[in-house]
Amino acid sequence: MKRQNHNNDRPTIGGDKGVIKLKNSKEESLLRRHPWVFSGAIATLPPSLEEGDVVTVTDSQGNVLGTGHYQIGSIAVRILEFGVSTLPEDFYFNRLLSAFRLRESLGLVRADNDCFRLVHGEGDFLPGLIVDIYGHTAVMQAHSPGMHYARNEIAEALTRLPGARIRNVYYKSETTLPYKADLGAENDYIIGGYDGNIATENGLQFNIDWLKGQKTGFFVDQRENRKLLEKFAKGRKVLNMFCYTGGFSVYAMRGGALSVDSVDSSTKAAALTDANIALNFADDPRHKTYAEDAFKFLNDMPADKYDLIILDPPAFAKHRGAIKNGLVGYRKLNAKAFEKIKPGSILFTFSCSQAISRDMFRMAVFTAAAKSGRKVRILHQLSQPADHPIDISHPEGEYLKGLVLYVE
Ligand code: SAH
Repeated sequence: MKRQNHNNDRPTIGGDKGVIKLKNSKEESLLRRHPWVFSGAIATLPPSLEEGDVVTVTDSQGNVLGTGHYQIGSIAVRILEFGVSTLPEDFYFNRLLSAFRLRESLGLVRADNDCFRLVHGEGDFLPGLIVDIYGHTAVMQAHSPGMHYARNEIAEALTRLPGARIRNVYYKSETTLPYKADLGAENDYIIGGYDGNIATENGLQFNIDWLKGQKTGFFVDQRENRKLLEKFAKGRKVLNMFCYTGGFSVYAMRGGALSVDSVDSSTKAAALTDANIALNFADDPRHKTYAEDAFKFLNDMPADKYDLIILDPPAFAKHRGAIKNGLVGYRKLNAKAFEKIKPGSILFTFSCSQAISRDMFRMAVFTAAAKSGRKVRILHQLSQPADHPIDISHPEGEYLKGLVLYVE
């Protein structure tokens, strides 16, 4: 495997490339600590500015608003620190340390839990950066050129976090960086290398495939919801739709489900689910995997076969323009489940589409329920876990929503 090119680092701390001045009265959102500067708000750019540079942003009078990463596009600056014109030298280390301390205080760093999100972009005041921890390996994704240029410094800081025991940093930004920036990022280890890929979540083991898997290799964001599902699983016949790594299935098995069927259209995902079931419940006849389309599976299955169904599809609306079609998708999917689920059942249903609000999702699910004629009650309203925090100045950070429903 080719090594990451370390030569195109740029000084990112204290190496400010100048000042971006905003148009008159365009400072409002920054004063409210929203971390994005849109290109339309900018009056003047310094002449030698390049994508990924650290810049200072001022209002039209020259008052300093903050310092952040510049990039070409609609979001022109992502603010790293408000009210300053340079970043301290230990900026990344300190931000990462406070993110780690938060995870420790949330009780996520334990011998039986070494799998959590360490950095959730804006939610950890590090816009453009995602870091997930799997045992001794950190998987890091840059979404902005500025974070790309800072990657080696960030990786090195990760290995210095006291108590985090991070030995390997895998950089996975080939598909997350803006394509036009042409940064030539290659997925590879920046520090260390492969040294095992099994992580532990709430005492359950998972093979994490950061090399070929989706996102950083695992959907850490469903951890608390999987734990809740475990409590509902006893004595139930479970159907885990869109299973990916089989996270919900493994928890359902531990919770004492009578049977667990996992469905994903991807054969790779089906194989990952099989591997994770084998890791925790080798040769347990209660589990079966189906590499099939979810809608086809729901259509073909007999009614009343399952009394606990999980619907955790990929984002049906990836941007605002897709909201209408996305809602139709959620309505149809949930309608199928309401049509087929056994009376006295539990339905866990999710949307991870950022563009679809909590209310819109509820409306889609409730419309599906009303059409089915079933009597439905809400038992729990679910969200993303605390290691995916939402900065109140950046409500766009909220994306995961779910409902646990009781269907008569
Ligand atoms: N529930 C999973 C995450 C789901 S990610 C977890 O807890 O980790 C969404 C999954 O849906 C992906 O694995 C993808 O392969 C699968 N998928 C996408 N379209 C599908 C379809 N039409 N039918 C079945 N699975 C599908």
